[in-house]
Amino acid sequence: MFVTRFAPSPTGYLHRGHGFSALTAFEAAKDAGGRFLLRIEDIDRTRCRPEYEAAIHEDLAWLGLTWETPVRRQSDHMEDYARALRELAERSLLYRCFRTRREIAEAIESAPHGAMEAFRGRALPPAEEERRLAAGEPYAWRLSLEHAERALGGFEALTFQEEGRGPAGEHGLIAARPQLGGDVVLARKDVGVAYHLAVVVDDAGQGVTHVIRGQDLFEAAHVQRLLQALLGLPTPIYRHHQLLAGPDGKRFAKRDRAETLRELRERGMTAAQIRRELGFG
Ligand code: GLU
Repeated sequence: MFVTRFAPSPTGYLHRGHGFSALTAFEAAKDAGGRFLLRIEDIDRTRCRPEYEAAIHEDLAWLGLTWETPVRRQSDHMEDYARALRELAERSLLYRCFRTRREIAEAIESAPHGAMEAFRGRALPPAEEERRLAAGEPYAWRLSLEHAERALGGFEALTFQEEGRGPAGEHGLIAARPQLGGDVVLARKDVGVAYHLAVVVDDAGQGVTHVIRGQDLFEAAHVQRLLQALLGLPTPIYRHHQLLAGPDGKRFAKRDRAETLRELRERGMTAAQIRRELGFG
């Protein structure tokens, strides 16, 4: 059974780009006679707001989408992520990272290839770690690529199927290169989990067979493939789609203050007009 999802974060109102992504996944599920899920990715409680979450439901319903209930909300499943994190920590695949953002930026700057380099680090010597823990210093949990590579005997067997396209036209069987992301954070200092871990736990838990999302997350698939291997979870098929560009050729994004679906609605545009404009007439 084909199962896909749309997984927005309620950190703002949805714009056309979200509409395009949601419709792409929804129509794919319909074409395949499969299931379409909505998932609210709200682990970052400081940036998420209930009114944005309510607006996601309202705007998607207005666009004509329907989805299964109950809707999974990540903040209701922190224990699931903590369990996965514990499992990885017990296998020494993680280390505590006390560095600040600025220290990370400096470490990357001074690496041989500078900005090209993704951050790689290692656990502190036990005495120093203990001292900093006792002092109550906050830390993130990072995945050690070095330990992960050793645990799996290399990354060569890590592949995934791309049925859409990556930003450089990647398509078909892709060899995952988790090195691209460096030692990713799996539990942030502030929230106790991080995006990649929550996504792989949820996709597996919800039986997602097809991950349909924007090309901006293509690189994330490389890291997520590694996490699936480490946690013994199935790998879905990926379909990354092109990002919708505005009239100026730039992609729609929250931070560019793209016009939101509700603004368009208030301006009198109909859902049918938006759907047509997005290619789902
Ligand atoms: N929550 C992510 C976002 O809003 C999407 C996660 C995913 O589709 O894997 O960008």
